Amino acid sequence: MTTLTPIRESRTLRVLPLRCRLCGHTSPAQPAAICGQCLGPLDPDYDPARPRPDRGTIASRAPSLWRYREWLPFEGDPQLSLDTGFTPLVEAPALARRLEVGRVWIKNDSVCHPSLSFKDRVVATAVNAAQALGLDTVGCASTGNLANAVAAHAARAGLVAWIFVPHDLEIGKIIGTAIYGPRLVRVRGTYDDVNRLCAQLADRYSWGIVNVNLRGYYGEGSKTFAFEIAEQLGWRLPTAVVAPMAGGSLLTKLEKGFKEFIADGLVSGKCPRLYGTQAEGCAPIVNLVQSGAEEITPVVPNTIARSIAIGNPADGLFAARAMKETGGWAEAVSDAELIAGIRLLAETTGIFTETAGGVTVAGALALARAGRFTPDDEVVLCITGNGLKTVEAVSGALPEAPVIAPKVKEVAALVEKSGG
Ligand SMILES: *Cc1c(COP(=O)(O)O)cnc(C)c1O
Ligand SMILES: [Zn+2]
Repeated sequence: MTTLTPIRESRTLRVLPLRCRLCGHTSPAQPAAICGQCLGPLDPDYDPARPRPDRGTIASRAPSLWRYREWLPFEGDPQLSLDTGFTPLVEAPALARRLEVGRVWIKNDSVCHPSLSFKDRVVATAVNAAQALGLDTVGCASTGNLANAVAAHAARAGLVAWIFVPHDLEIGKIIGTAIYGPRLVRVRGTYDDVNRLCAQLADRYSWGIVNVNLRGYYGEGSKTFAFEIAEQLGWRLPTAVVAPMAGGSLLTKLEKGFKEFIADGLVSGKCPRLYGTQAEGCAPIVNLVQSGAEEITPVVPNTIARSIAIGNPADGLFAARAMKETGGWAEAVSDAELIAGIRLLAETTGIFTETAGGVTVAGALALARAGRFTPDDEVVLCITGNGLKTVEAVSGALPEAPVIAPKVKEVAALVEKSGG
């Protein structure tokens, strides 16, 4: 391992030490991928006695994920990416009717800042951790949205970014990364190959690879998705939440976030039932839940839902446990179903999501068909990415717009044909 030279050590911000989720071994704040004792995953080690704000104090703060900073892994004031989070929660009565439940809301991270996906949350956290640790270079292994986010957040923080993606990603994800001027590298292989490469690079270079050796800090950003749902519902909890799964981190952290707010008395009741969805062409976590097996069986992805196509999910076991513990379940949907899901969401709510959001909506319909919801359920659907990044997913499915001369009579013909 190379030693890390502190370059821009932040005086105002410190990251918390780390604790192993499996064996409890603690280590000082540092870039580290896994526990040195047992290879388990690392979490920030929060001081249980730290002061925490009440509802009113939180509500008086700026509308970003930093309004929950006492539940994020820092001491002091983060300076970077202050505009991320606090995305809209919008009610969707038409979807409530479709799912035959009491109420439905869309948590709309397709407009998260600055790069239009939920990955802005985890990267806002990681980029502040990188700065606090004195790292001048960040990186990631990405299925697309993480590449967009790391490139964008690094650009404005003045950090160098090394970004590794599968060579055949959607053009919107490539351009949406390259535009920020990172060192972008396309790797011949699947995401799982890219991730393995990045694990090796983290040992070789003094880089903060956000989802490898900053993962313990990075993942905490996902909890703010749960915090915002609770606050935006008027400090209460829905009965069910449906989220797409890639590595399984978001789903795992939803449980952690809801339970922290319950434990700290900000909301009452019990953790919502958590439902995870994947595309059939890459559903290792769904397979785990449905089969009741003890371990993930990795798959080779084959789906248009590229942003969640992780064949060997790092947090798969924890996600499966979260679904089981909360009384939830998992469903997989076909590519045709997810395309229909994207269209249904757009036509009923005016929100254009990418393939992962299509998996959420189609997955919710599948869960409803399987009798997983009751008529008084209050369901939040997690929409995690923006449709303009994956237009190729739906372009073939939409009717072609007619081309006419600029003449009223040509419009009149169309109006007649359409029946009004
Ligand atoms: C990364 C991602 C997810 C979920 O990722 P996890 O690895 O399971 O946390 C969901 N939706 C989109 C659009 C993503 O990019
Ligand atoms: Zn350990």
